[in-house]
Amino acid sequence: MTEQTRPGLRELQRLDDAIQAIIEKIVELDERLAEVEQPAHTLDDEVGTTRTRLQEMRVEERRIELAGDEKRTRVKKLEDRLTQVRNVREESAVTAELAMVRRAQEADDQEALSLLDQIRRLEDRLGEQSDALEEARAEVEPRRKELEAERASAIEEEARLRKERGAFTASLDEGELRVYEAIRGSAGRRALASLTDDGACGLCFSVVPLQRRNEILHGSRMIRCEACGVILAAPTDEPEAPEAAAEATGGDEPEPPDSSESAGEAANGEEDGEATTA
Ligand SMILES: [Zn+2]
Repeated sequence: MTEQTRPGLRELQRLDDAIQAIIEKIVELDERLAEVEQPAHTLDDEVGTTRTRLQEMRVEERRIELAGDEKRTRVKKLEDRLTQVRNVREESAVTAELAMVRRAQEADDQEALSLLDQIRRLEDRLGEQSDALEEARAEVEPRRKELEAERASAIEEEARLRKERGAFTASLDEGELRVYEAIRGSAGRRALASLTDDGACGLCFSVVPLQRRNEILHGSRMIRCEACGVILAAPTDEPEAPEAAAEATGGDEPEPPDSSESAGEAANGEEDGEATTA
């Protein structure tokens, strides 16, 4: 608990706000990418469906063609047998079978032709769909690349900030760090605020008793606001990233279900780091 700790927590809060902002940016970029890619995705699905259907029809057409070939072979054999029949009874039997196989073979040929026709139409449709897909992709490609590049650099920035944070927290008092993290929580609430010029909490503006104000100014130990639980620090000349602070303290923001509990804990755990471990 050195005098360096609260300025350290202030710097940590700045880093955490920056990390939170970059994560929000990445989420937003993901959404925009999905939006940009949506039309091509839909077309891609259509192309996939047509391709599958075409494949099935080709298999079916091939199957019918083979069945037709097999019947043609049988016709040939029956025609040979017809030249070698020894009596009328045998002749009429072979003739009847021949007629039946021929009819079946002709039906196969008809079906194969009809399938080939459908296949050709489906191939045309696949061609049109593929063209539309390519067009849609080409149209969004520059924007997509731009968003991808933005996303990649945001992810790099996040990694850099996290590394910086990791190195930085090593220099902080562990107990105070735990208190800070318990207050901040996963919702990224503001954990540290400066005293105002007239001696109030910089977050909830409750008046801080004079004796505690002195302790804060001397920085001898961690003091938390009795009303809202935020860690109080001596005023600083540096600007305190007001827009980030305003965001973090907006009471109307959706927060995890445990928020009220944590806030209560934060408010009650003042002066005592161990009471508010994460
Ligand atoms: Zn307060």
